[in-house]
Amino acid sequence: MSESFRSAASATVPGQRGFDYLIVGAGFAGSVLAERLARELDQRVLIIDKRPHIGGNAYDRHDDAGVLIHPYGPHIFHTNSADIFEYLSRFTEWRPYQHRVLASVDGQMVPMPINLDTVNRLYGLSLTAFEMEKFLESLAEKKDTVRTSEDVVVSKVGRDLYNKFFRGYTRKQWGLDPSELDASVTARVPTRTNRDDRYFSDTYQAMPLHGYTRMFERMLDHPNIKIMLATDYRDVVDLLPWRHMVYTGPIDAFFQHKHGKLPYRSLQFRHVTLPQEQFQPVGTVNYPNDYSYTRISEFKHITGQKHPSTSVVYEYPCAEGDPYYPVPRPENAELYRRYEAEAETLENVTFVGRLATYKYYNMDQVVGQALATFKRLAQRHAQQQASAA
Ligand code: FAD
Ligand code: UDP
Repeated sequence: MSESFRSAASATVPGQRGFDYLIVGAGFAGSVLAERLARELDQRVLIIDKRPHIGGNAYDRHDDAGVLIHPYGPHIFHTNSADIFEYLSRFTEWRPYQHRVLASVDGQMVPMPINLDTVNRLYGLSLTAFEMEKFLESLAEKKDTVRTSEDVVVSKVGRDLYNKFFRGYTRKQWGLDPSELDASVTARVPTRTNRDDRYFSDTYQAMPLHGYTRMFERMLDHPNIKIMLATDYRDVVDLLPWRHMVYTGPIDAFFQHKHGKLPYRSLQFRHVTLPQEQFQPVGTVNYPNDYSYTRISEFKHITGQKHPSTSVVYEYPCAEGDPYYPVPRPENAELYRRYEAEAETLENVTFVGRLATYKYYNMDQVVGQALATFKRLAQRHAQQQASAA
C-alpha cells in the first residue's frame, strides 16, 4: 500500500480522538464489525460505503409501486448456527419463510433441488423414496475423486439429470463449464430422495420482519458509529484520522490489481413490476436451458407482503460489472493467495467478507466470519490496553 495510506493511519487531529476504526463497506461484514467494535469495545467507528445506502448486497427498499424488493437479487436468510441467528435477532424480528424453487425443464416446472417428485414427473415414473435411491445409483457415474462441479452432480445423479438441471445453468451463471469449477459450487445444491421441496434445509430459515435495511439501521444505530455513504474510501482515506481499517471490498482492488485481476462474476438485474397479484407459483423459478437469464424471483413470496401489484427480478450473468461472486477454481485460489499473503503483512488493515476474502459465502457465513474477526480484534485490543497500562 502507498506511503500516504500509512501516514494517514497515524494521523491525528489535535484535541480529538479521531476514529479508532475506518470500516470500508456497510454490508454484513462491515456492519457487524462496526456494531461489535462500537458497542462492546467503545471504539469510535467510521463506516464508509461507495453506494448511497447501507446493507451491501442485502439492501432492500420499496420500489415505485410500494413493493419491497431486493435491488441486488433475492436474499433469503438461512443458517444452522444458533449463535448467528441469536446475534441478528438483537436487531430484527423474523418472519418464518422456507424458500421454494421450481426449475423449468422439458416444458415442465419441477422441484429444484432434484427430489422424488422431480424424477417421477420428469420420467413419468411413480418411484418410492427407496426405489429412487436405487434408480439414482443406476444412473450415477462412479468417480474415484470428486474434484469439479461436474463430478459432484454426475457422480450422484448421472449425466441426463446433470445436463437437464446443472450444465446449462452453470455455463450461463459462471461463463464456465461445470468441469472448470470447484466441486463446492454445485455441491451447494443437494439431491433428495424424499419429497422435501425446500431449497434450504437449515435449522433457521426466516426473513427479517421489516426487511434487511431496517435490521442494518438498528445495527448501526450507536453514538460511536458515523456513516459516510456514496463515498469511495480512497477519496477520504488520507484525509481522516484513523488507527485500524476493516476492508470488505474486493481484495484485488485494494492492492490496485498488482498481481492481476481476480475474476468476480457479475449480474445485471432486470426489475419488473406487474399489475397483478402474483406472477409465478414460488419465490424463484430457474431456467437452466432457456433464455439468457438464469432465474426469475418474485419478492412477495419471499417477504410475505400483500400488495395488488407484484415485482420480479431477472438475473443476467456477466463478466463485467459490480463484483458479486468470487469464482471458485484452482487458478483463482492461487491468485487470491498472493493477495492474501500481501494482506497478512499489513498490521493495520483487516480483510473480511465475501469480496475481501474471496469466499463464496452466504450471509450467515459472513456474519460468522465477522464475529470471529471481532474476537481476534478484541483480544488484540485487550493486549494493547494491558501493555499501555
Ligand atoms: P457486500 O454486501 O458486497 O458489501 C461490501 C460493500 O463494500 C459494498 O456495499 C460495496 O459498495 C462496498 N465497497 C466496495 N469497495 C468499496 C470502496 N472502494 N469504497 C467504499 N465502499 C466499498 N446469501 C444468503 O445467505 N442468502 C441468499 O439468498 C443470497 N442471495 C444472493 C443473491 C445474489 C444475487 C448475490 C450476489 C448474493 C447473494 N447472497 C445470499 C450472498 C450475500 O449477498 C453475501 O454473503 C453478503 O451480502 C456479503 O456481505 P459482505 O459484507 O461481505 O459484502
Ligand atoms: N445450479 C445449477 N442449476 C440450478 C441451481 C443451481 O446448475 O438450478 C448450480 C449453479 O452452478 C449455481 C450453483 O449451483 O451457481 C449454486 O446455486 P445457488 O442457488 O446456491 O446459487 P446462488 O443463489 O448463490 O446464486
